[in-house]
Amino acid sequence: MNTDRLDAVIVGAGFGGMGAAIQLNRLGYDDIVILDREDDLGGTWHVNRYPGLTVDVPSTTYSYWFEPNPYWSRLYAPGAELKQYADHVAEKYGLRRYMRFNTTVDGARWDEDSQTWLVSLSGGETLRTRFLILATGYLCQPKTPDIPGIEDFGGTVLHAQEWDDAYSLEGKKAAIIGTGSTGVQLIPKLAEDVDELTVYQRTPIWVMPKFDVAFGPAAQRLFARFPVTQRLLRMSSDLFMDLMVTIAMWKFRQFRPVNSAAARIGALHRFLAIRDKGLRRKLTPNYDFGCKRPTLSNTYYRTFTKPHVHLETAGIERIEPDGIVGRDGTKRVIDTLVLATGFDVWESNLPAIPVIGREGRDLGKWWRENRFQAYEGMTVPLFPNMLTQASPYAWVGMSWFDTVEYQMRHMNRLLGELQRRGAETFEVTEEANARFLDRMLTLLDDSVFHLGDCVNSRSYWFNSSGEAPLFRPTSIRQAVKEQDRFPLSDYAIA
Ligand code: NAP
Repeated sequence: MNTDRLDAVIVGAGFGGMGAAIQLNRLGYDDIVILDREDDLGGTWHVNRYPGLTVDVPSTTYSYWFEPNPYWSRLYAPGAELKQYADHVAEKYGLRRYMRFNTTVDGARWDEDSQTWLVSLSGGETLRTRFLILATGYLCQPKTPDIPGIEDFGGTVLHAQEWDDAYSLEGKKAAIIGTGSTGVQLIPKLAEDVDELTVYQRTPIWVMPKFDVAFGPAAQRLFARFPVTQRLLRMSSDLFMDLMVTIAMWKFRQFRPVNSAAARIGALHRFLAIRDKGLRRKLTPNYDFGCKRPTLSNTYYRTFTKPHVHLETAGIERIEPDGIVGRDGTKRVIDTLVLATGFDVWESNLPAIPVIGREGRDLGKWWRENRFQAYEGMTVPLFPNMLTQASPYAWVGMSWFDTVEYQMRHMNRLLGELQRRGAETFEVTEEANARFLDRMLTLLDDSVFHLGDCVNSRSYWFNSSGEAPLFRPTSIRQAVKEQDRFPLSDYAIA
């Protein structure tokens, strides 16, 4: 084992991990290692390369506040531009020197004697570090559905998260399983290329109109020369997103009509795209808007009106070597199967690696036996000097950057205090953690998750106990403000 003590090990080289590294640098820490199992940085934007991938939050909002990018080609930028942006940030802030790729972390354990974390890597190496930062994301464990016969399918299987760019879809008879945000982006693109496309939908998704605009060279020059112009645009997209989520989801009790208005916009969007009543009905969600991640598309619904695109909603009975048999007995012969079946958020994630804290507390086990919980969505009792980003009650708003940036503020205040006191460790108190959990649960009482009709939504935002502990049900502004004010006495600092 390398006995040198690092300042920090960050697990995950996506935007979360990079934000954490930038914050550590600002605080003067430089002995940092960022580990990632992939072969390059960017997290989800490195892994996802499927056709039609774009960011589904305005790019003006989906970026670090401190690093605006004047060169987005559109309001909803293509995925490749997000990867370029990640590369740019890593370059500008000198983060690549910290990164080790193709490195899988087996687990981490707090060592009481040395007051450090021991991080085990799959090759047998162990790193010793003062701070441990889990930046693995909520959506990092792609799911292959457990459908009978899937292993014996004789054609080509394309996973959305492992897209094979070399595979030509021209002339293919394809099927896609999954109509979440990924499916909604992929389906119109697939339909452009293949001869036949069958979409297997289990739960219809809310699809809203997308008000997208291209940013031509003139707009990009304007943003670059007068950054205030882009700031103003960002402030409006931030405010719109924040208000939508806060009012339609978290303040459902007080603003139910706003949620209903959003649902009516979705219904109008369907009505304008699809004349066939039966088809429209099949694509109509039977749960409230906001129970599950809504998505944006101006092409999704129209795609189903094309003669070579078929929608199957009876469910899948089995997959055979040459096709898919539905529960209604219909068989579709296919040569290409596309899986847009989402991620395992609850079983193999949260945490994404085994983490053992003080007194042998196993984070995953403790969360499952005592409810998912994390103070300010970041710290957990008996896990000293550990910050976890994709945690219970951490996710605020719809842009991941909102979460990353309020967490950077939390780090700034907490680690700054350690430095002022010349202290070595922090650990959130049980009392502060319980108080925060209580507050989150009370806030959720007003949300669409509690008061809306979410029974049929099959939303990954809910766990198997029917709780929805991923989101911090507050506005983004409030989450940000609180990070400059949380009582430092909520931590034992030693
Ligand atoms: P998802 O929302 O979990 O959707 C998975 C889809 O697969 C659902 O339609 C699900 O049906 C279906 N499915 C899963 N197992 C199935 C089975 N055994 N049989 C039939 N259908 C099955 O996953 P996602 O679309 O990848 O999106 C996940 C999240 O990623 C989004 O919510 C969003 O936060 C993010 N995302 C962002 C972007 C972007 O910004 N560009 C793009 C894509 C995704 P059920 O609904 O019935 O379970």
